[in-house]
Amino acid sequence: MRHIAIVGSGPAGYYTAEAAAKLWGDDVRVDVFDTLPVPYGLIRTGVAPDHQSIKKVSMRYEKTALTDNVRFVGNVEVGKDVSVGDLQELYDAVIFATGAPHDRQLGLEGEDLGNVIGSAAFVGWYNGHPQFASLAPDLSGRHAVVVGMGNVALDVARILSKTEAEFAGSDIVSHALDALKGSNLETITILGRRGPHQIMMTPKELGELMHLERASPQVEKDDLPPEGDDAILEPGLRKSVTLLRDFAAIPESIHGETPITIGFDFFANPNAFLGDDGKVKAVEVERTTIEKGRAVGTGETYQIPADIVITCIGYRSSPIEGVPFDERAGRFANDEGRILPGLYCVGWAKRGPTGTIGTNRPDGYAVIDLVAEDIGNGSRKRGRDGFDELAEQRGLDIVTFRDWQKIEEAEAAAARDGSPREKFVDIESMIAARG
Ligand code: NAP
Repeated sequence: MRHIAIVGSGPAGYYTAEAAAKLWGDDVRVDVFDTLPVPYGLIRTGVAPDHQSIKKVSMRYEKTALTDNVRFVGNVEVGKDVSVGDLQELYDAVIFATGAPHDRQLGLEGEDLGNVIGSAAFVGWYNGHPQFASLAPDLSGRHAVVVGMGNVALDVARILSKTEAEFAGSDIVSHALDALKGSNLETITILGRRGPHQIMMTPKELGELMHLERASPQVEKDDLPPEGDDAILEPGLRKSVTLLRDFAAIPESIHGETPITIGFDFFANPNAFLGDDGKVKAVEVERTTIEKGRAVGTGETYQIPADIVITCIGYRSSPIEGVPFDERAGRFANDEGRILPGLYCVGWAKRGPTGTIGTNRPDGYAVIDLVAEDIGNGSRKRGRDGFDELAEQRGLDIVTFRDWQKIEEAEAAAARDGSPREKFVDIESMIAARG
């Protein structure tokens, strides 16, 4: 028998559990831990609430979760309730699938001003992550600045632009929907330190900006390289740049008709956030030019009004005591998923915050191949029986998958018309809902 602990119940965690169950069948027991009483990590609290089709992948994880040899162990924080050493004593392999939950910092003056918010916090807020549910961003101003040109920046700009009707069918939490309904935003400026050929946005997500009810995307024609230069781009990026060209062709009159303009400001590197009374009022930006693919400052600076700033520049993993961490890269120090004997990582905790949900599938299968090489037929560790004893000794209140199903039913019952669920946004309510 092999005993495997997976820390984190998001896509990386469940694809890894699936791989273990597939490889070893009845000869493995997998415990999937999560700090929250609810599973699915980024699917629940990261994927945009208006992207329900992406969230449907959780049905696949549920299938894995319901097999006899895989179990969900929610409401347990590894590093606090139990140590990594505790898990290593009980399990043949401990695999960190903890993602990258913290915002990277720009390290700029004024970053700590009020209403300068990282995307982990902002996305967590509109998705009802208990850690960020009380964020209360101030949306009363007219100007928003979104820093970064990746898909998270697009999610944020789109969510800030949508009308209440456009959230029909989504599971945006009520506190966010109410706040967005009262928003006074008129311009959303997306800042990219490099140019149109260096955006990280993918075509499907970029194309959504064309179909917003009250917002229109705006690109300056002069920022676009000659059309012939697009030929060297890989096909996905070429499609994205073609969309930017479409945005540049939108007549000025259309921007006049839509209450919100989403402007793309390329070659624009934030220098500092400027405030008034502790709250952000503007972003100082330096014009850049591109040299060998890198943004280089020109010395020319200007200011953009900003009543709210959301930085969408990537994420860092959370270090856990006793596990080697690569501070510079912001993830566990690892060699293709191996950290130390018996300790592994997978997904964003292994490779950093890149790729799609699906990228985690091969990652999960690959880490199980490594574990299989290393642990052979397993040892005589006690696995889940030992864990249950430890949990009892420590008085841990474990939330099982069956409990989660009750929480899920209660969320579905509380949903607005047409919405799949109204999420509980604090841990106490989640636990109370299991009955
Ligand atoms: P990302 O794709 O890496 O984009 C980060 C952006 O921030 C880049 O434009 C980057 O510019 C910019 N940036 C980084 N450091 C900066 C700095 N110091 N100053 C100014 N700009 C800076 O990251 P992400 O948007 O957080 O997305 C993370 C992953 O999740 C990606 O793989 C993304 O595709 C995925 N995702 C997918 C979806 C979807 O499929 N619907 C939705 C959300 C997220 P440079 O390129 O110049 O560094």
